[in-house]
Amino acid sequence: MERSYERSASYFEEAQKVIPGGVNSPVRAFKSVDMSPVYIERGEGSRVYDADGNEYIDYICSWGPLILGHAHPDVVQEVQSTAERGTSFGAPTTIETDLARLVTEAIPAMDSVRMVNSGTEATMSALRLARAYTKRNKILKFEGCYHGHSDSLLIKAGSGVATLGLPDSPGVPENTGQHTLTVPYNDMDSARLAFQKFGHDIAAVIVEPVAGNMGVVPPEAGFLEGLRQLTSDYGSLLIFDEVMTGFRVDYHCAQGLYDVSPDLTTLGKVIGGGLPVGAYGGRQEIMDLVAPVGPVYQAGTLSGNPLAMAAGYATLREMKKPGSYEQLEQRAVRLEEGLRQNADEVGIPSHINRVGSMVCLFFTGEKVVSYEQAKKSDTERFARYFKEMMNQGISLPPSQFEGMFVSKAHTPEDIERTIEASRTALRKL
Ligand code: PMP
Repeated sequence: MERSYERSASYFEEAQKVIPGGVNSPVRAFKSVDMSPVYIERGEGSRVYDADGNEYIDYICSWGPLILGHAHPDVVQEVQSTAERGTSFGAPTTIETDLARLVTEAIPAMDSVRMVNSGTEATMSALRLARAYTKRNKILKFEGCYHGHSDSLLIKAGSGVATLGLPDSPGVPENTGQHTLTVPYNDMDSARLAFQKFGHDIAAVIVEPVAGNMGVVPPEAGFLEGLRQLTSDYGSLLIFDEVMTGFRVDYHCAQGLYDVSPDLTTLGKVIGGGLPVGAYGGRQEIMDLVAPVGPVYQAGTLSGNPLAMAAGYATLREMKKPGSYEQLEQRAVRLEEGLRQNADEVGIPSHINRVGSMVCLFFTGEKVVSYEQAKKSDTERFARYFKEMMNQGISLPPSQFEGMFVSKAHTPEDIERTIEASRTALRKL
């Protein structure tokens, strides 16, 4: 039976009158799956409920932050009791130190950490700091990696390897692109070439240690180590953008999982437990340049907001408990197995990448280690799969180029139901 999405459709119509495209972040408009978005009214554990009363097992999990699932009682309780004492003071509170301590204990490469309000702010600030520290201008990033929407990071590759970049969006000054180099992910040779040409002026390499914005693409053996060596050789900084992977793939983040230490790390998502938080940090000698200790200016009216710190603190405290990541791994491994078996059985060309609780089913028969390869996926087939899954009560990220997030609230039964639904959906394609 087809589900009804009538109420959501009428809410969306109203929203479009007063909000650009009806949404406050483009991906929520469901454009790439050619649908109208559903409005969520409520979430609990692994489930969300939309305005028409439809229930879903949710694998968006707010695009990563909700590693404990929706409305986890500890998170709700911490936020509530904090709110009762006031929501924001513009003065320091001890919960900021509590969260910073948890974060720096988990990440040895972060001597200290500055809280901001989003991943975009975190990466933007980390770049400013890297440029100030090295007294250089250029940065190197990778195709298919997303680091938020600040000007110098909204740059796509120019034509050919080691050329200067072009703005991805109108409104970004053309000459901003001159400072952003872009090379393919997992391609050390191209990174080396870029350094041979511009190395003396590269302030930093910024990389998602597991790429999560082109589906899920793990680093190939030697890639992160290679970047570590290359940046050290040239006196550039290595920035791991762990906004998505931080406390997601491991309590010690991707840098712990792969045992490679960056100079700076950016965080977001999980460390805010569903409230707006970003963070950047690293070696003390670099962090000492940040105001008020040093001259690199960066500030925020709501930075370190007590409610956001409380949600993040409650989330990390829970994830720190023994067995948390093992449980996520078990569930995600089973999901990966089930999805693969279904696709093989139905004979649909597919490739599954997974790192910890980040899982992606690509509709391409080829291995995916770069954006070029991810783009070979059949996005039209993905859109049909997405719709079929939705009709069966499974909420997937509405794009082929985003991974599923498994949370601690997903039960073995949820996973089995999801696998069953995917079998039905794949058969219908
Ligand atoms: N970096 C990475 C790796 C991300 O995945 C994202 C968001 N998906 C960002 C930065 C930007 O974070 P925000 O949306 O909080 O600005």
